[in-house]
Amino acid sequence: MTTYNFNAGPAILPRVVLEQVHAELLDYQGRGMSIIEMSHRSKEYEAINVRAEARMLALLGLESSYRVLFLQGGASTQFAMLPMNMLAAEQTADYLMSGAWSDKALEEAQRFGRARDAGGTAGGDYRRVPRPEQLHLSENPAYVHYTTNETIQGVQYQYIPEVGGRRLVADMSSDICSRPIDAGRFSLIYAGAQKNLGPAGATVVIVREDWLGEAPRDLPVMLRYSTFAKNNSLYNTPPVFAVYVLDLVLGWIGDAGGLAGMERRNQEKAGLVYAAIDQSEGFYRGHADQDSRSLMNVTFRLPSESLEQRFASAALAHGMVGLAGHRSVGGIRASLYNAMDADGARALAAFMLDFADSNG
Ligand SMILES: *Cc1c(COP(=O)(O)O)cnc(C)c1O
Repeated sequence: MTTYNFNAGPAILPRVVLEQVHAELLDYQGRGMSIIEMSHRSKEYEAINVRAEARMLALLGLESSYRVLFLQGGASTQFAMLPMNMLAAEQTADYLMSGAWSDKALEEAQRFGRARDAGGTAGGDYRRVPRPEQLHLSENPAYVHYTTNETIQGVQYQYIPEVGGRRLVADMSSDICSRPIDAGRFSLIYAGAQKNLGPAGATVVIVREDWLGEAPRDLPVMLRYSTFAKNNSLYNTPPVFAVYVLDLVLGWIGDAGGLAGMERRNQEKAGLVYAAIDQSEGFYRGHADQDSRSLMNVTFRLPSESLEQRFASAALAHGMVGLAGHRSVGGIRASLYNAMDADGARALAAFMLDFADSNG
């Protein structure tokens, strides 16, 4: 039976990448050992490190005025590292609220400085991202932060907020490289690797060089962006395995049509699953409003929690793994990251229609 991996993160990786990793694990390029057994200062790892940065910049269409840093600690560490580096005592930072991850980002920033809710859809269940007219930005904030895709609620921005010259920062953990984006409008983008880019363990930070001034004096070396920028992410031992796989995934994205190719794939897959929701005459209720529907995480409810449990276990019996919603919100969540192909979405949509027929 085919296994369809709908896990939210860590998540599915491209089959061809896993095959290459498998093949290279006992002997990387004739060296008689794997890449994870070599120095991070070897010329082999150096080549991966340089290529991964170049591939990321090329995919995003960014020029040399940006740096790509490979860190550890996950996106959750960025919730703190961003304000520690970029939010001075007398400044304010604006946060746009759209779901559980933007909630966490704001809460963490408030430990370090003045960070405020600058517009959003709070009130609990986050069915949509804020509309442009709901944003109330400060005059002169250190930055404006938002979460491009809310992995738990399954809501995604279909626009880039207009911030009129203010610095824009985005947590793109769960939709980075899933569609073309005007990346030059951002001063900083961060993402944990384990949704769309590779294994857990690496965190990607893409930052405009002109924002990489000196960090506050009392900031630990390992929490300064400048440490990683100055040392090409090799100040200390980087997460070599995660960066190695991430580089292969970026190569795969390039071969599969780049970000435009990813967007076509992702629209087709999400379209299949949302169509199954919309055709079910109310048996499935999508969580997100139409214009905030995520292409990455499709969230929906069934008429009762017991039916949701039966749905998830029946799906599992059909090889479909990882469909239970996040423990904080319940329901069903189908994560359709880049590496999932249309067959998986097609199988899920067909299963959903069958299940609705026999349980509706
Ligand atoms: C998963 C996720 C995080 C947390 O990532 P970690 O790497 O586990 O810290 C933050 N933001 C978003 C949007 C996520 O999807």
